[in-house]
Amino acid sequence: MALDGAGAPEEGADERDVIVIGAGFAGLCAGVRLKEAGRDDFEIWEKAAAVGGTWRDNTYPGCACDVPSHLYSFSFALNPDWSRAFSPAPEIQAYLERCTDEFGLRPHVRLNTELVSAAWDETSARWRLKAADGRETTCRVLIVGQGPLNKPAYPEIEGLETFEGEAFHSMHWRHDLDFSDRRVAVIGTGASAIQFVPWLADNAAHVTVCQRTPPWILPKRDRVFSDAEKARFRSAPIFKQIRRWLTYGSLEWRAAAFAAHPKLMSVLGRPARKFLEEQVPDPELRAKLTPNYTIGCKRVLLSNDYYPALMKPHVDLVTEPIARATPTGLVFADGREIEVDAIVYGTGFRATDMLGAIEFVGEGGRRLSDEWADGEAEAFYGLSVAGYPNLFYLVGPNTGLGHNSIVYMIESQMNFVMDALELLDREGADALVVKQDVQAAHNADLQERMKRSVWQSGCTSWYQTKSGKNVTLWPGFTIDYRRRTKHVRPEDVAFVRAKAAV
Ligand code: NAP
Repeated sequence: MALDGAGAPEEGADERDVIVIGAGFAGLCAGVRLKEAGRDDFEIWEKAAAVGGTWRDNTYPGCACDVPSHLYSFSFALNPDWSRAFSPAPEIQAYLERCTDEFGLRPHVRLNTELVSAAWDETSARWRLKAADGRETTCRVLIVGQGPLNKPAYPEIEGLETFEGEAFHSMHWRHDLDFSDRRVAVIGTGASAIQFVPWLADNAAHVTVCQRTPPWILPKRDRVFSDAEKARFRSAPIFKQIRRWLTYGSLEWRAAAFAAHPKLMSVLGRPARKFLEEQVPDPELRAKLTPNYTIGCKRVLLSNDYYPALMKPHVDLVTEPIARATPTGLVFADGREIEVDAIVYGTGFRATDMLGAIEFVGEGGRRLSDEWADGEAEAFYGLSVAGYPNLFYLVGPNTGLGHNSIVYMIESQMNFVMDALELLDREGADALVVKQDVQAAHNADLQERMKRSVWQSGCTSWYQTKSGKNVTLWPGFTIDYRRRTKHVRPEDVAFVRAKAAV
């Protein structure tokens, strides 16, 4: 078959049983599970110069996880040494580096190796991969864990290209800049911005926060773990387990409200309103910060220092839309103009662009970029896509969460992948792939359930495509997802054999 996008491998091109793409939480989890099963013939391709994924990429001041540390970690590598209830990004990055060593993954990781295309060769039943540096490899199984939140989204604002000051995205924080004599405009008020705005308020000469939609914010129940607590976590692992499962339970029940009964969201809405009232006494500022959509429709944020930062005398909150940028600043819809020295884009990521620049060519030359055009991605439990045998996607379509830890989902997904590999061994087949009708029925049901969710209750968010379809979140309990993905049901998949062998 023609291998558009991949080409034939050069002589001497190497072959692996499994290639994993990405060395963040997903890719590293895949590596651990493969090794544990004695499936050592694998490589993890990482396009950057270090492992860590989002926690390597996001270094902006204040970057931290808003899921509690003992839950936002691998179940098989609980960490007694988290310094606080919600870990700062560098600690999570160090944890992932440590896991890479402790689980013997280092020799499997190929850094600076970016997948550009993967084409299914029906004759050999192998994936033919091409890396950006021209390297070509074939593999039987391709596990993609590239993550959805790494392609920065920039605002479309007239004249931004003419701005002559410093302008950068939160993911590309300019640590070389001294902000003390700089006036800074921040565009966006999402999960990233509310973490770095307090730092800017402490370190910049002036800050203008440009808000399009106010986020719902709850208090962050953060605290330092004492040495005695850490010693207890170390000496008696049961304490880490208990903490993890209590945290899991305290978050998991909320799926009932988020996914099925948005009216129950008032349980979170009331404390959020009270928190706003307590933190922001000025009624005018409070009105600007009061959301007019159901809590949970966009990601619920946690912060104790965001509202106080906005009340500082040298911090302004502007809610007028940005009309255009000039070489020296921004002009708002009401004609007001501000001069700034720097613009920080806290405008998030193109999460529905799941493929990024990778071209996947499946059976019969079909292309995933066509099938998932405009972000309208569909898969079977986010994992398997009809027409793409032995391609397993981690954190794929409709597997993100608004209420719990994505690490739990990743571990569930690897249960499915490992079961698929065992099923292949048992069947003696080269590959398996979800059947088209099974995938279609799965997605019809999923989108039907999604209609009831708070995420489809009227706001717009990065969870949705331009058409409004939610392709990012799992509309239910994570425990239900775990149950459903524990085993691959043979009747859901088609077994594929190399044409050369038929
Ligand atoms: P985000 O939640 O998508 O927020 C983007 C912000 O930019 C929103 O306030 C959006 O306003 C605003 N915006 C976009 N275009 C704009 C424009 N043209 N003019 C004005 N405002 C504009 O992005 P994020 O804050 O980077 O977070 C993305 C996701 O990353 C999070 O939801 C979370 O899953 C993850 N994250 C997690 C953590 C963590 O602690 N675990 C921390 C950071 C990020 P609208 O609301 O009006 O669209």
